[in-house]
Amino acid sequence: MRLAAFGIILIASTVIAVAAPSAPPEPVVAVESRIDSDAERTRLVFTLSRPVTPKVFALEGPDRLVIDLPTVNFQLPQDAGRRASGLVKSFRYGLFAPGRSRVVVELVQPALPVRVGVEPMPGNVAAELVIELRRADRPGFAKAAATAREQAPVASSSAGSTATPRAGDDRPVIVIDPGHGGIDVGAIGIGNVHEKDVVFAVAQLLRAKLERSGRVRVVMTRDTDVFVALNERVRLGRQANAALFVSIHADSISGASEVRGMTVYTGSDRATDAEAARLAESENRADSVAGVDEPETREEVAGILDDLTKRETRTYSALFARTLVGRMDAAGKVNKNPHRSAGFRVLRAPDIPSALVELGYLSSPSDMQLMQTAEWREKATDMLAGAVLDFLEPRIADKGRGTEEFPGLMRLR
Ligand SMILES: [Zn+2]
Repeated sequence: MRLAAFGIILIASTVIAVAAPSAPPEPVVAVESRIDSDAERTRLVFTLSRPVTPKVFALEGPDRLVIDLPTVNFQLPQDAGRRASGLVKSFRYGLFAPGRSRVVVELVQPALPVRVGVEPMPGNVAAELVIELRRADRPGFAKAAATAREQAPVASSSAGSTATPRAGDDRPVIVIDPGHGGIDVGAIGIGNVHEKDVVFAVAQLLRAKLERSGRVRVVMTRDTDVFVALNERVRLGRQANAALFVSIHADSISGASEVRGMTVYTGSDRATDAEAARLAESENRADSVAGVDEPETREEVAGILDDLTKRETRTYSALFARTLVGRMDAAGKVNKNPHRSAGFRVLRAPDIPSALVELGYLSSPSDMQLMQTAEWREKATDMLAGAVLDFLEPRIADKGRGTEEFPGLMRLR
């Protein structure tokens, strides 16, 4: 039988009776995973605390299979997804959106599911989710991926805190964007430290300090360990009418051990150096990692103001970067080249000054150690909060004036 005949979206064939509606269901727990393979096929098996209904689809470039699930609490060994076998190179798992979990399988070569099933295990105390894969030819896989793209669910979800301000609250808005989240863990350091957790902890501390100042309003792009697509992060910034957007990361940068310490990046079409270009490229892959292939939506500003606005936004972004570098300098924490630029997608709002702060690099053992100490986090967030307030000072002093006619141009004056 030809694989294409299966179509692309396979819903599990086994339907098990669900619990009575009065009892709120316990979250499904994934306790084990294994990959069985022979010359013909590869079976990816998850042991779950109870049955779920999965949805499986293919993505190209790189070749991946995505398994969408309701919320699953994955309690798998650290290296569960890194054991290659048969047609499976690796897999990742985690929260994709509120109420939705996802597994993204990286394939060795094009392969499609020939069977997706949920089978109760003896005693009915658990169930096995089985995805059986077979080799597919390129045209067949491409066709499956194209069908999936047409039927793609909306990737973006509003994961952030977008509470509307109280009437009369005209304090400037800072959007804090903790990088990565959920299924996208970001860089991984020694001892399986995940970038998404390091940056989230620091972002929360920064938020608390800025809120305590009472001088700005803080909006987060994510409030929890959940994936947020790159377009969505930019959109949340614009929706919040942000006066400043700060994305927080702690990536790894291979083969560039001299890059360590805090670094601030602003957006530009041309990168200042090869490391910055590489970093932006890897950062821009965040959607792909989570099995999202949304093309970038270029946010535009209406009409003739477009170019002017963009230029002014770049000037202000650079001003924030200089303000932060000044603070870093004063604290003696400056690295060789603390302000760099590259084409980060998350920094492309045309009318919001934006910067991406690398707190340090998980590829540097000393940075990694430092970033996990409470003392370092206090100092780093003091520095960041100080720079944010310095930068927004003119707006705090002059709030609410002259923003009617040219929102983009006048916003910061
Ligand atoms: Zn990152």
